[in-house]
Amino acid sequence: GGKQVINLRDILMESLAFVKPLTPSSIDLRYDIAPVICMIHADPVKVQQSIINLCTNAIQAIERTGTISISLKNIEIPAGSDFSTANPDQPARTVAELSIADTGKGIEEGDLERIFEPFFTTKEVGQGTGLGLAEVYGVVSDLGGTISVDSMPDAGTVFILRIPEHKTEG
Ligand code: ADP
Ligand code: MG
Repeated sequence: GGKQVINLRDILMESLAFVKPLTPSSIDLRYDIAPVICMIHADPVKVQQSIINLCTNAIQAIERTGTISISLKNIEIPAGSDFSTANPDQPARTVAELSIADTGKGIEEGDLERIFEPFFTTKEVGQGTGLGLAEVYGVVSDLGGTISVDSMPDAGTVFILRIPEHKTEG
């Protein structure tokens, strides 16, 4: 697969169509998807795999019942903010914010700094390779975006991806 210019929202909708049938009925899957247009230059398959991995992790983190909340919206990044270190004189701009939150078992504080490392997994053999979040990190970085995580053991986890719009050159 190659890179193309495509709306992140369209990739998200396709990913969710894939995730829906994988979600046990004991999990309440909620979406709040704004009519955002965020054109990105990416291999859509890789972006889709990343979103599916974040959702699969959320499903696996929920032991019995729980909620997964997925939202997409635009947010304003103020001028001169350090969202991207590429240009400190950057004017204010809008980025897409994709949030995937679950009410699952959470991540131990000692594991938080390791989850993006390739092959880091807390899952049983055959359940996880530990490559998912490393791949997500690579895809987001490649788009000039950021990923952050906030988690509390026994309460849940939220991953927040901020993705800038692709700028056509010339
Ligand atoms: P894998 O899913 O194959 O284990 P990932 O790279 O996707 O690999 O995730 C690495 C680890 O991060 C997981 O094994 C788990 O410990 C932790 N993790 C990721 N997402 C979540 C989540 N939503 N809730 C709890 N733990 C998570
Ligand atoms: Mg995973």
